[in-house]
Amino acid sequence: MVRGSRSRCSRCSAWSERVHSRYQRLLADLPIAGQLVKLRLTVRRFFCDNVACESKTFAEQVEGLTRRRTRRSEPLRMTLTSIGLALAGRARESGWPRRSGSGRAETVSCGWSGHFLTQHLGR
Ligand SMILES: [Zn+2]
Repeated sequence: MVRGSRSRCSRCSAWSERVHSRYQRLLADLPIAGQLVKLRLTVRRFFCDNVACESKTFAEQVEGLTRRRTRRSEPLRMTLTSIGLALAGRARESGWPRRSGSGRAETVSCGWSGHFLTQHLGR
């Protein structure tokens, strides 16, 4: 459960204390010992009382953990971005993707499982 009696509208930054509803949010977080970690949060949806704002309601965000419309924690998102940039840089340096003599594409290793990366990179 996220604490605090109020939250800022993600569109206009106005504070609101009027809770519209609560719902469960499931976030993928950084793996521990190679195991996927899912965080189950109860988050609130607030009314935005700013008449000039186009949003009537907004979901609260937890600074450093959540971001609008994603199912990944911020630490996971930043880690995946770093891995993606490192792999892209390494791939560029090596002229990847290359084909070996057998016709198979060579791979770049980063120590994370291929299953985990295909689930999370590029989304
Ligand atoms: Zn607003």
